[in-house]
Amino acid sequence: MSVLDIFSRLTQQADLMDAMMDKLGVANEMRHMPDHAAVLRRAANRCLTCEKPDSCQHWLNNESHPDEAPAFCKNHDLFERVLDQMDKETQPAA
Ligand code: SF4
Repeated sequence: MSVLDIFSRLTQQADLMDAMMDKLGVANEMRHMPDHAAVLRRAANRCLTCEKPDSCQHWLNNESHPDEAPAFCKNHDLFERVLDQMDKETQPAA
């Protein structure tokens, strides 16, 4: 694999992660987490080792208002925690 191939893969996977965060509506919440730099770095590392970028792109192209990330996403559990947190923040105080 050439350096250009590696750079191209890094760019593609980073774009997929951004698109996934936008599609799920978690981008803003994640960028304002207290430890967002470390969280985003770990998430990006998972994306870089994802073996399903084509499935990811297909899913992104075909889902309009998903409730959750696809099961094959290596960041599924992280995104689920963020979505749960966002749900809690919008619940009226008891
Ligand atoms: S499926 Fe998840 S881990 Fe894989 S590239 Fe897409 S956002 Fe990243």
